Order: sequence, then C-alpha cells, then structure tokens
Amino acid sequence: MMLVSLVILAASLVVALRLLWKQHRRLTTLHEAIKAGQVHLNSEEGSDLLPVWRPLIASVNALIVENNRLALQSTDKLTQLEATLGNLREAVLVVDEANYIHLANRALRDIFPSARNLVNLRLELIIRSASFLEFVKNTRGGQVLPRQEFEITEGQTVHCIEVSGAPIPSPDGKSQWALFVIHDMTQQRKLERLRRDFVANASHELRTPLSMIKGYVETLVDGHETMPTEERDRFLQTIHRHSNRLHDIIEDLLIISRLESATPGINFEPIELANLLEALGDEYRRRPNAQDHIITVTAAPAVGIIHADPVKLSQVFSNLIDNALKYTPKSSRIELLAHVLDSGDIEAAVRDSGPGIPADDLPHIFERFYRVDKGRSRETGGTGLGLSIVKHIVQLHGGRVWAESEIGQGTSIILRLPRNNPADHARSA
Ligand code: ADP
Repeated sequence: MMLVSLVILAASLVVALRLLWKQHRRLTTLHEAIKAGQVHLNSEEGSDLLPVWRPLIASVNALIVENNRLALQSTDKLTQLEATLGNLREAVLVVDEANYIHLANRALRDIFPSARNLVNLRLELIIRSASFLEFVKNTRGGQVLPRQEFEITEGQTVHCIEVSGAPIPSPDGKSQWALFVIHDMTQQRKLERLRRDFVANASHELRTPLSMIKGYVETLVDGHETMPTEERDRFLQTIHRHSNRLHDIIEDLLIISRLESATPGINFEPIELANLLEALGDEYRRRPNAQDHIITVTAAPAVGIIHADPVKLSQVFSNLIDNALKYTPKSSRIELLAHVLDSGDIEAAVRDSGPGIPADDLPHIFERFYRVDKGRSRETGGTGLGLSIVKHIVQLHGGRVWAESEIGQGTSIILRLPRNNPADHARSA
C-alpha cells in the first residue's frame, strides 16, 4: 500500500515538474519575443499549459504589433522631417531641456563640419559660447528674444552666426525644448570687413598725395609773386609728381573695379605666348630704365597657342617686369619663362635675381596696398596695386598665381594658366 502511494506521489511529482518546466519554457520564449519586438508564435500550444496563457499571449502580441506600428510611424515622421529640413539653406537645431541635440539638419553640419554627427551630442560640445548657451536657456525659458549674432570659435576658425529661436514642447509634453534657425554670416561679415579695410586704405593712400598737393598749392597761392623762380619750379615739380601719383592710384583702382565687375572686359583669343613674351622682352630691353638689367626670354616651343586676352596678359607680365626692375639692383637678371606641364596647363614666370621677399611678407604681397618696403615702393612710383591686378587677371583666365622667393637669391612670380579659356572648359564639361 505504502509502495503504491509512493509510486503515485512520484508520478504526480514528475507530471508537476514537467508542467512547471513547460510554463518556464513558454515564459522564456515570451520574454524573448517581447525583447525582439516579434509576435509570439503559438506553435507549442498544448493542453498541459495553464488556460491563462492563451489570453496573455494574445494581449502581449497585440501590444507588440501596436508598439511596432508606433515605432515605424515615428521613425517615418523623423525621417520625413529631417529630409524636409535637410534641403533648407538655413541651419535648424532642436535641443531638449538638458541641451542634448535632437535635430540638426545638413546646413548646420556644414557650419560645424568637424562634428560629423551632431544628434545626441550636448550643445556645449559643439558651440562653445557662453552667450549663445545663455540665449538657448532664455529661449527655452519662454523669453521672446530678438535675432542675435554670435561669434563661435572652432579650432582656428571663427564662425559668425545669426540666431533666432522659439520654445517648443517636448514630444511627451513633459518638458520644454527649443528650436533655432541659424544663418552663417561668416562670409558676409568677412567681405564687409574687407570692404571697410579697403575704403580706409584707399582713402589713406589718396589723402597722402592730395594733402601734399594742397600744401604746396596753398604756399604758391600765398607767395608765388615773391618766391624765387627755382623754388617755385621745385614746388611745381613736387605738385606734378604727386598729381601723377594720385592719377596712377585712381587708374589702378579703376582697373581693379572693372576686373571685379560683372563685365571685366576679358576678350579671349588664340595667342602665341612665346611671341607675346619675346615682344615684351624686346620692348623692355629698349627702355632707358632697363638698360642696366639683363632681360632674357625662354619659352618652350611646346607652349604654342593659348586662349587668353593678349592686352590683359601683357599687362600681367608688364606689371611683373616693372616690379623686377623696381626692386632689384643694377645688373640683376630678369627672366621671362614659359613651359608646358604634364597636365597640359601652361606655367609662366618672371624670375629675378634681386634681394628677394621675406617669408612673412610673401603670402600678403597680392593684397591691395600691401608693400614690403613702403618707402621704396612710393619712391619708385608704386601704387601697391600691381600684384592685385595681376591676381585678378590670372583668376579671370581660370589660372592661379603665387610667389616664391629666397632672401638674397631673388623672386619668382609664377602663373599657371589653362591652355583654353575657362568658358570653353565649362562648355565641354
Ligand atoms: P607696388 O606698386 O608697391 O610695386 P605691387 O602690388 O606690385 O605694388 O607689389 C607689392 C609689393 O611686393 C611691393 O611693394 C614690393 O614690396 C614687393 N615686390 C613685388 N615684386 C617684387 C620683386 N620682384 N622683388 C622684391 N619685392 C617685390
């Protein structure tokens, strides 16, 4: 009897354990399904499972399906919003209550290229400006602030941004976020600064000869009747010299202004560069101020024909030869060179054996009114605009120009020009 009871107990225990194990397996697979976001399959349906399982699995599956639908909907919306904002020229930024970035469109990434993916980063890591962060805080706090400009330093670069913002509720409605529209004003402000500097420099350059002329004329007006003839001659010569200088500066300024205009007046035609250089070399060798210099021309026959404006290109080489004559001592060599590069472009240069240009000045000599030695430039009739004109003309030919120099060895001004004019390139592209 005892044995029978024991057997029944053992059998019940085995059945109970099997049942438990089955419930455990079902629980584990259900857990996996929830974690993976996939509906739970009813393949293991059996009579040995507790009846509560059927409605439980149905409810969990319904929740998983609804959750998946909502997730898809919100991803679609975010993708749609990002795609729309991505095409905007204005940069758009959305930050949450803890300054985490939730949305940053392409225009914003263009302003701060060093931060490749801005989303989920803290704003403080991208925009290091206490005043901007204060603006963000106040905007989020609901203050209506006018559009404001900020200077943001990023490595070596200083960005100038103009920002307007508005508070927005967070998606769950529990906190306050903020949305900003940002304009990159860096280029515009740089151009404005350049223009301001240019006006200041030009006024200064014009004022100097003008005040000399004014002073001498006033002295002549007051005392020309009593003034000794030689002194009057000297005064008139000074006035003449300064009015020539005034004239030269204004002429060069007009040339630059024309070159910068929408109609720079460049007329491309096929020209033999070697012939142009030879003709210039001959002409300069005959000039009295070039008698003490050695001028040579070396142009490789392969240079052949290029498409360029012959008048403007002659002006480029004349400015460079004039500089070489002005800034090198007697018996210096001035070489006009041209050859073809592997790329097919033409490289030409005016090389002299003069004193050279200090390395610190070299990057600036193409800027308007920049002179290494102000006194020497003025003394030789320089306007400080010659190389700026050269640069403009070369750029209008689709080329580039730069200087190489070594103190005591000489200076080379090198130009690289495409064989065809840039418009032809654009047409064939
Ligand atoms: P500038 O009218 O003063 O000659 P440029 O724009 O032609 O003005 O040249 C700018 C400055 O670059 C000059 O003032 C001069 O100091 C320097 N420079 C130009 N060419 C040479 C050269 N070949 N050798 C030495 N210095 C030069």
